[in-house]
Amino acid sequence: MVASEISKIYEQFPELKGHLLEVAAGDLPKNVVAEYTFGLRRMTLNRESFADLDELAQLSAERYLAGDWSTGTPGRAIWHEMGHALADRNRVNNIAFGMDTDMARLSKVKAIRSEAVQSLQSFASHLPTQTQREAAARKWARDNVSLYGIKDKTVQEFIAESFAEFENGNPRSWARRVIEAVR
Ligand SMILES: [Zn+2]
Repeated sequence: MVASEISKIYEQFPELKGHLLEVAAGDLPKNVVAEYTFGLRRMTLNRESFADLDELAQLSAERYLAGDWSTGTPGRAIWHEMGHALADRNRVNNIAFGMDTDMARLSKVKAIRSEAVQSLQSFASHLPTQTQREAAARKWARDNVSLYGIKDKTVQEFIAESFAEFENGNPRSWARRVIEAVR
């Protein structure tokens, strides 16, 4: 599953070749399904999560319905990390530490994130109770873009979540705009 997904991604995004040097199974914290390590360009898959794909499928579906993740299928774990490889290509991480190599692309994604946050706020923030605001935020996220994606100000997670949505097929407009901005 992993190798075929990655070669499919390389066909669509040839510019990603060289930005993933290693895929390994590892012992990650329980709530981390996979991770991408900048610099080393390594994807680590949580041994336990990938040992039970039915459970991973169920977790993905639940997190999608809660508005946390952009994509409710197990493939998201791989796609999300490849989105970090795309961010690596754009040196998003370096820029976050002040070493600019592609500020224009990053600024575009930051502007899209601000718009998304505003849209979420105008949908949810006028409601009277915290419970209602939270429910509205989750509904907005389910219909638009993942909460996990827009929470992070460095926009790395926005790129990763948008990439997952793009690979899952039928990306919504926020994800389409982010991927257009970083390609
Ligand atoms: Zn991530």
